[in-house]
Amino acid sequence: MEVRFLGGAGEVGRSALLVDDRLLLDFGVKTGTPTTYPLGLRSVDPEAVVVSHAHLDHAGALPTLMGAPDAEERPEVHWTPPTDELARLLARDTLRLADGYDCPFTAEDVRRLMEQSVHHGYREPFEAAGHRVEFLDAGHVPGSTHVLVDEGPADTEGDTRLLYTADFNTEDQRLLAGTTARPDADAVAVESTYAFDERPPREEIETAFVTRVRRTLRQGGTVIVPAFAVGRTQEMMAVCARAGVDCYVDGMGTRVTDLFRRHRDFLRDPDALDAAASNARTVDGRPGQRERIAEQSTVVITTSGMLQGGPAMTYVPAVRSNPANLVALSGYQVEDTPGRDLLETGSAEIDGRRMPVAAQVEAFDFSAHADRSGLLAFLDDYREATVLVNHGDRCEAFAADRREAGFDARAPDRGETVTV
Ligand SMILES: [Zn+2]
Repeated sequence: MEVRFLGGAGEVGRSALLVDDRLLLDFGVKTGTPTTYPLGLRSVDPEAVVVSHAHLDHAGALPTLMGAPDAEERPEVHWTPPTDELARLLARDTLRLADGYDCPFTAEDVRRLMEQSVHHGYREPFEAAGHRVEFLDAGHVPGSTHVLVDEGPADTEGDTRLLYTADFNTEDQRLLAGTTARPDADAVAVESTYAFDERPPREEIETAFVTRVRRTLRQGGTVIVPAFAVGRTQEMMAVCARAGVDCYVDGMGTRVTDLFRRHRDFLRDPDALDAAASNARTVDGRPGQRERIAEQSTVVITTSGMLQGGPAMTYVPAVRSNPANLVALSGYQVEDTPGRDLLETGSAEIDGRRMPVAAQVEAFDFSAHADRSGLLAFLDDYREATVLVNHGDRCEAFAADRREAGFDARAPDRGETVTV
């Protein structure tokens, strides 16, 4: 089996793996200025695409594969039902934000995705581009999967099995259970976002967050919680509901919440999401509404999670000059994003303007990725396999670290083809 890394090699973003030149696993973008794409944009021509989950760094470039006017000439797209709906929702949002500029796909391309869509649940093997493929719950966001690819066609076992972990979490969240899947595999392409970071148990992080939020509210401050639309917004809503803290929710996350409530089978605790939704007040973005909310002593959960756009661009400038206020970042901040900048320097470039922030800034690591202990525990079941490290800022260092521990591990470069 040949695995070519088109993106996500040595970086977080634009994940894309091409198996045997015919089966594409994920086709994401790296958001930023400018947004960058995997190798093979416009030239890769797979028979089928399998999508692990809807986050833009895994699915954001998918519509670019829909260029052929004849549906027969476009690749099939295999995914879970929530991933399908979410990916198309986010693609339409990308188009809206791009406003015609700098977007390598059209509304027609997004519409065509629907015609190519094939749904699968967990543990229901299917055939794609001559390979046997199976989805296993990755515990990252609702509908997210590990992708197990067997070289043989649907009903036989080939020589090689590749486990593409995609993004995964080994720990339970409010709405999702952590992954327990450890299928046999000869090669594991493993994400490594938190390869060198340990995280306190989720319960401790929640307690610290709630304590900090309550203190800010007692002192009359406003709390802005930048959060990813997919997964994190709903988790933060659930944390607030459970603690009895009222909140507003704004941005794309509100629509994603409605979508998840329609896919209850993909949630560990759908009732908790219902409770979270009724506890939160939805902001519809009428003129002046956000500025008025920002003056209240309240909590606002809003996109984007790394301050790269969305209503957070209104809220953060509105609360930034008062030290009683709090910006509570809720997840991993990728290098070179305004969120990371704010955390490290106390100021950030927002809407093209450098802004010092006197409000307090704290990060609460509600990440949906396995931490170092989680990654090591996961990999422990793959001591005999070839480990291909991707999706991290320090892939080569983590591969070296695992080689020290006796693994056959390496970190492929972007564009490299590995035979397993
Ligand atoms: Zn993800």
